[in-house]
Amino acid sequence: MTDHTEMLKQERNTPWRVELRNSVPGKDRIAIERVKMNEVEPLERIKSQTCEVNCGLTPEQALHEARRCMDCVNPTCIEGCPVSINIPKFVKQIEAGKFLDAAATLKEFSALPAVCGRVCPQEKQCELKCFYSEKMNKEPVAIGYLERFAADYERLSGKIQIPKVEERNGIKVAAIGSGPSSLSFAGDMIKLGYEVTVFEALHEIGGVLKYGIPEFRLPNSVVDVELENLKEMGVNFEKNFVVGRTASFDDLKELGYKAFFIGSGAGLPNFMNIPGENLNGVMSSNEYLTRVNLMYANQSDSDTPIMLGKRVAVVGGGNTAMDAVRTSKRLGAERSLIVYRRSREEMPARLEEVKHAEEEGIEFMNLANPVEYMPNAEGRVAKARFQRMKLGEPDASGRRKPVAIEGDIFDIDVDLVIVAIGVSPNPLIPACLPGLKISRWGTIEVNEETMQSSIPEIFAGGDIVRGGATVILAMGDGRKAAASMHRYLQEKQKK
Ligand SMILES: Cc1cc2nc3c(=O)[nH]c(=O)nc-3n(C[C@H](O)[C@H](O)[C@H](O)COP(=O)(O)OP(=O)(O)OC[C@H]3O[C@@H](n4cnc5c(N)ncnc54)[C@H](O)[C@@H]3O)c2cc1C
Repeated sequence: MTDHTEMLKQERNTPWRVELRNSVPGKDRIAIERVKMNEVEPLERIKSQTCEVNCGLTPEQALHEARRCMDCVNPTCIEGCPVSINIPKFVKQIEAGKFLDAAATLKEFSALPAVCGRVCPQEKQCELKCFYSEKMNKEPVAIGYLERFAADYERLSGKIQIPKVEERNGIKVAAIGSGPSSLSFAGDMIKLGYEVTVFEALHEIGGVLKYGIPEFRLPNSVVDVELENLKEMGVNFEKNFVVGRTASFDDLKELGYKAFFIGSGAGLPNFMNIPGENLNGVMSSNEYLTRVNLMYANQSDSDTPIMLGKRVAVVGGGNTAMDAVRTSKRLGAERSLIVYRRSREEMPARLEEVKHAEEEGIEFMNLANPVEYMPNAEGRVAKARFQRMKLGEPDASGRRKPVAIEGDIFDIDVDLVIVAIGVSPNPLIPACLPGLKISRWGTIEVNEETMQSSIPEIFAGGDIVRGGATVILAMGDGRKAAASMHRYLQEKQKK
């Protein structure tokens, strides 16, 4: 038995957990229905970019939901969590009404519980592994809602608990980029006693959490509190600092940095290279969302105003496409349309995002692919030409391949097209580190167990390693890299 499973067993057998478990018979727990998340009405929420759609659980709802958890002997939900949160422990703390303790438990494992409670695809991770999903064919315990509840409860109570950190050991380490992978890495390294600096190219900390995901899904104020906790723990943040331009790795080594974590993400948008893609009014979702979320380009006094569309087509079927199309609706579009080359079932976006988009009046045009954009007299996009598709055999990803229906072409009037068909890694860091092994997709190659690259003092994780992935996978990489960088630096100290 490993230390970890022994620890879980001991915690499960603490008197308060045993008493709580015995207080409600298992069959009564199974009979409880999963709680429903309250939401702001669609017509109300689309009036504002910052009105959060989900309202969070009330304490009564959280107590109700926590009671469903069976406190399993072998909690498989933990296996589904890339940062290995002790899920039964925090859920049972909620059931016992110990809300602040539940928040403290979350922070032992995650630097960003309020973020993850909002944007993690729990349905594909911890909740998929819940006893109810795996064994009962029932709706899983709403682990994500409960995580959000505990983190929000702590924030709103004003009794924010800062995790304990070891005394500083004087060893300087750096994280490059300030997205979830680096934040998670920084949180673990500061707890271990290192001097941690996070270097960020932009003028805001948070990576995609700030420049990509809109406030109606993830308010900046929520992210800021979690960033503030890291600052309180001692993490140093340097903004407007492009590693590879403002300073090189050699410069940073001269400043005393002994090891590096690269979490620079995948911020380079993909395009389709079709005629008309360079027209005014055709842009990437990255540009659109960054300018709205980070540069307030939709406001009348903006230095970098953005083109607001009335007839907007967003190409793609992932979370980014949903965020862009829902943003366009909030910015006054009369028609906001998702164009996706596969069917609805194959869309990679979270089901909740698709449902919310539909409620807000977003139209879905599935099995269609743009082939050309045409301008008006002023050179702005005015029409998009689409190819109708059908589903063929499954491809390497297991999804059925979209195949063009010969001759089935049609045009639609548009005045804004947003391309959200994926991203590639930014090539700057690989280019300035000769000897760093890079895959043919431009991602950094690492040992998957340690996240160590071909250069021993350089570790990497998140989208720069995986290509576009998820917040929690990036955070899991950051944690893994912190643990192995710690071992690496300790070994070096001994020599
Ligand atoms: C619009 C959108 C919506 C999404 N929605 C979800 C969702 O709902 N749920 C989910 O789980 N995932 C979602 N994702 C994916 C998720 O956000 C990413 O997988 C995750 O943010 C990756 O984290 P990261 O730490 O690798 O990098 P990022 O978050 O991309 O951050 C990288 C940071 O590095 C900085 N940087 C780059 N180069 C340098 C340099 N040379 N020097 C200094 N700084 C540098 C960049 O400016 C950036 O701030 C979404 C992505 C987008 C774009």
